[in-house]
Amino acid sequence: MQYWESNLRCPSCKGKIKIIESSIHCEECHSTFSMAHGVPCFVDHVLSEHQKSDLESVRKGLAKGRSTARLLGADARCYKWATEWVNESTVHESTRVICVGGSFIDDLPHVTSSFKFNVDHLVHEFIKIIPEMVNTNVKHIASTSEALPFMDAYADFVYSRNSLDHVSNPIKTLIEINRVLKPEGRFLLSVYYNSSFIYSGETTVIDDDFVRNHLRNLFDVEWLEVRLSESESVPQPPKFSLPNGNGLGWLYAVCKKNEDFRPYDCEAMKGYERLTSSFHSAVYYDEKGMRRDASRFFAEVIDSKPFLKSDEMRIMYSKIRYLSANDHKGFRDLFDDFKLTNKDPFWWGIVIESSWSFMKDELQKEIDARFSGTERAYLDRTIRGMKTRRIKDLVRRNRPIYRIVEPIYSFSKRV
Ligand SMILES: [Zn+2]
Repeated sequence: MQYWESNLRCPSCKGKIKIIESSIHCEECHSTFSMAHGVPCFVDHVLSEHQKSDLESVRKGLAKGRSTARLLGADARCYKWATEWVNESTVHESTRVICVGGSFIDDLPHVTSSFKFNVDHLVHEFIKIIPEMVNTNVKHIASTSEALPFMDAYADFVYSRNSLDHVSNPIKTLIEINRVLKPEGRFLLSVYYNSSFIYSGETTVIDDDFVRNHLRNLFDVEWLEVRLSESESVPQPPKFSLPNGNGLGWLYAVCKKNEDFRPYDCEAMKGYERLTSSFHSAVYYDEKGMRRDASRFFAEVIDSKPFLKSDEMRIMYSKIRYLSANDHKGFRDLFDDFKLTNKDPFWWGIVIESSWSFMKDELQKEIDARFSGTERAYLDRTIRGMKTRRIKDLVRRNRPIYRIVEPIYSFSKRV
């Protein structure tokens, strides 16, 4: 217990903690947390639908006899990369190493430090079904990455493998990593690059924009490399390509903290977080009124329209959703502009889904005047979908199909 007390801090206020039996108390803000299965637990014990499905897929994989390493897919290569930076010459017994989002494994098994942690929001659940987690020399902590339970400038190394694009708020996560890193410490990042909602667990596109606006704002990037998947053995979804020669790949970076990064607008951050968490948990109803997972929807959208990615798409999308659910006058203003400039049936489909309940006659007229052929057929399908009972029910109860409650704002670029 003494070990945890001296190494961990309250994730809310960063105050000192005291552990009494299986309770963790913050001495400053008096928040309480718990120890569960030997793991300090700073997360809500009630699991979200998304977390349940993550856990379920691991459980199923184990039941089929898959090894824990295999369940994490093509990550062995990332590990090999990390050993070039974290090895006997850079790490000793008391080096502090935090792996952020390592699921249930020891991300750096060759590191023998007594201060090696894996922070993941589900470890307290994983440990119940994967007994060998107890025997590794990594110390597991159940926490979200947006509020890490460590004091400022605690860590010599922070390592994040295939995780940053899965968290609810990747920007907040980077801010936290910056905070816990020592000034001379290093942040090692490996993450899917340009992947955009291909797999269900991902919330965020890590692409050039993200690197320029956020990674390079919060860190001095000493070394960065994107290895396209074509030249590596990363499994690729079929038919996926991006314009301008950008392809799906892995991004690797070694970073030092930037101590005077441009601050972020707090409201914008809240909007971002709600938006990404709604992607995680959102469901929608397809043209047959069937309940479907929204992340699959985005996979299909991005698959067919790879240029609609990240912030641009999200801002547009959330604006339409937000205004149609909350501000019909604002929506009409948006639509006046939209109908002059936007000919893309995909976005017209989104507009139909969002506003059919209060402006169907006007929409029908515009669609009749503008679209024909396959585009028209696509929109007719969307309209038929709006007429199914399930969607009508939702509209009648005035609930947006997606639970997006606030628009996301764009982040200004670093000068
Ligand atoms: Zn506290």
